[in-house]
Amino acid sequence: MSARLSGKVAVITGAGRGIGAAIADAFVGEGASVFIAELDRQTGAETAAKLAARGGRVAHGTCDVSNKSSVEAAVLAAQRTLGPIDVLVNNAGVNVFRDPLTMSDADWRMCLAVDLEGVLHASRAVLPDMLARGRGSIINIASVHGFSVIPGCFPYPVAKHAVVGLTRALGVEYAARGIRMNAIAPGYIDTQICRDYWATFPDPAAERRRAEKLHPPGRLGRPEEVAMTAVFLASDEAPFINASVITIDGGRSILYHD
Ligand code: NDP
Repeated sequence: MSARLSGKVAVITGAGRGIGAAIADAFVGEGASVFIAELDRQTGAETAAKLAARGGRVAHGTCDVSNKSSVEAAVLAAQRTLGPIDVLVNNAGVNVFRDPLTMSDADWRMCLAVDLEGVLHASRAVLPDMLARGRGSIINIASVHGFSVIPGCFPYPVAKHAVVGLTRALGVEYAARGIRMNAIAPGYIDTQICRDYWATFPDPAAERRRAEKLHPPGRLGRPEEVAMTAVFLASDEAPFINASVITIDGGRSILYHD
């Protein structure tokens, strides 16, 4: 059986670590060529080197998704190094959890710039060529915060709700021209972004255990479990899945209350 992403070129933002790195790993494992577009040059280079050592066709470049020119430069570098882009994974994101009244304007703008506008910038950078070729799959890593709200997490859910809206709007906009845009909504996935969040509590280990218990399977999700779904959406196995959101939270968001 041939690899599921054989011959495809993918750009993954924020793929130096966490969920993005797991997606890059899974994509390489399924035969894709991968461009790691990462804010932190060092983690981007390290992840790229690790995947290349496994025989992957991998390149990397610095990219700040909140900066349109930076995103355009990264996409150009990906096209020049690896060829036309078949798959974009908008994974880069930051947690911004503030009090709505005392939050600074800078924090509001930064959250929307990275978590929402970054998705638009990268999509607009790859879409013209995808439309010209009549095919492409764009996968946005949204969140369960894209359709539900946890008090104390403002304005992150504002941005993630909008990512779901953007996914639906652009998915419908370009469907007839061969493009699919879908989102993945992870629950708690065990990465640095969560560890940094738990570290804001007096007892981070207790907060982690509390998060584990929130989920029906009694554990957190793993980055590889998000990556498996990204492989599916990027592949030719999901040709009629468009403008959709796939939730990966062990069933947590179905619970009415604990
Ligand atoms: P991590 O913090 O581990 O990884 C995020 C990555 O994004 C880092 O490599 C980071 O780079 C990069 N990044 C941050 N800002 C930018 C930027 N401006 N431009 C380019 N890259 C950037 O988090 P996760 O892997 O957990 O998160 C990945 C995505 O999944 C995010 O969109 C997040 O919102 C979403 N998500 C995560 C959940 C979880 O529980 N982990 C749950 C739901 C959604 P650097 O290292 O330089 O900061």
